[in-house]
Amino acid sequence: MSNKPDQPDLPDQLDVLNPATGELLTTVAAATVQEVDAAVALAAAAQRRWAAAAPADRARLLRRFAAEVDAHLEELALLEVREAGHTLGNARWEAGNVRDLLDFSAGGAERLNGRQIPVPGGLDVTILEPLGVVGVIAPWNFPMPIAAWGTAPALAAGNAVILKPAETTPLTALRLAELALVAGLPEGLFQVLPGTGEVAGNALVEHPGVAKIVFTGSTRVGKQIMAKCAQRVKRVTLELGGKSPNIVFADADIEAAAAAAPMSFLDNAGQDCCARTRILVQREVHDRFLELLAPALREVVVGDPADEKTQMGPLISQVQLDRVRAYVPDGLDGIRGTAPTGPGFWFPPTVLTGLAPDAPAAVEEIFGPVAVVLPFEDEQDALALANATEYGLAGSIWTRDLGRALRVSGGVAAGNLSVNSHSSVRYWTPFGGYKQSGLGRELGPDALTAFTETKNVFLSTEA
Ligand code: NAD
Repeated sequence: MSNKPDQPDLPDQLDVLNPATGELLTTVAAATVQEVDAAVALAAAAQRRWAAAAPADRARLLRRFAAEVDAHLEELALLEVREAGHTLGNARWEAGNVRDLLDFSAGGAERLNGRQIPVPGGLDVTILEPLGVVGVIAPWNFPMPIAAWGTAPALAAGNAVILKPAETTPLTALRLAELALVAGLPEGLFQVLPGTGEVAGNALVEHPGVAKIVFTGSTRVGKQIMAKCAQRVKRVTLELGGKSPNIVFADADIEAAAAAAPMSFLDNAGQDCCARTRILVQREVHDRFLELLAPALREVVVGDPADEKTQMGPLISQVQLDRVRAYVPDGLDGIRGTAPTGPGFWFPPTVLTGLAPDAPAAVEEIFGPVAVVLPFEDEQDALALANATEYGLAGSIWTRDLGRALRVSGGVAAGNLSVNSHSSVRYWTPFGGYKQSGLGRELGPDALTAFTETKNVFLSTEA
């Protein structure tokens, strides 16, 4: 029986496949609207007790949770290799990111300070109060880190969390919930409810007992969620798509820029909202850059994600493979790497050249191992091209000219830029998008305050 009478085609069970082989790993029950209701009631009760606990006690339990994750790092990583097709090296980093973020957020619980503001006739202080129950709706591209980016700071700030993982990748999230209980987190405080977006995800969005939604996924669904949250003025953080530029100026170290370019969009098979998929190259070095890029692209090791040497694994699903294929019809100009053939959801590293700057593959998020190379003339032209998408998540600038690096950083409308590198994500620096790439920031020194309300209290000394 379906769990939503008006949408009978939605599944009651979620099939979890190994994307490298297409084999069925397991099935997981999809949460119903009634189960979401029950989870919210349990979370609300747990949250009241959690918020009343001393910050040091909350911090201690979150550090124990981090220690449990650390003790099970390899198990979590191997699970992610199997359910998401992530390379082993990436999956280890991802489990470590969860541990580090829990530790970092635990310290935040002890430092969540309000302010004292000078006001005549009394004492004025601000208090940062938790919101209550927070719903985290996670995607399949980085199931563990993205779940933790919402969950860890929300818990540290005194909230309860209900996490709905993506349909295709519920297993690591479920394991994290078990580890939280082993660590001693109170029952109900952190719950994981696998389910469909249309049923369980939507129930969290519409539930009056959920104070905030943290959503990561497509811009299309993010807009729908924002509109529904508006009905209740529900708080929302959105981390949406990207189509990030990698701007290579003629004065850059071209060898280094070409060597770094492949993994800047092939990491996680391109299923990365920060992927540098628009490679903009100044015209006088354009041909030289392509000469250097071709061998670098073909050297990327694509194959069994469980092999330590592998740099790129499969796409997550047949649906995603079909989406990516639609952007790369046969006969387009460019550079191709190789990928396994046979079962599994494989697509080779691909660079497209000779496209118009407004071609769909040049402006839309493909979310696969596909980049375009476009030439530009000068700084002004580079900025115009870099900003000519609806997105604004990340970007890279390759130049030896410090003034240019600063000017162009100022001109690119994006939340996360790197100069002469492609790094975007550290748990202690803020992350988030401009324009239609998102709303709000995660991570960084202010991560906890996104899960609080500021209350101002004035105490009169005149009475
Ligand atoms: P999606 O936006 O449909 O799914 C993301 C999450 O939202 C999942 O947990 C899903 O169950 C949930 N969801 C879906 N519909 C919902 C609804 N109506 N209410 C509440 N929750 C809902 O993404 P997708 O279909 O898995 O991927 C499609 C495209 O989105 C990709 O090709 C890619 O371009 C983009 N994407 C971006 C990111 C990112 O990190 N920004 C992550 C995943 C996908």
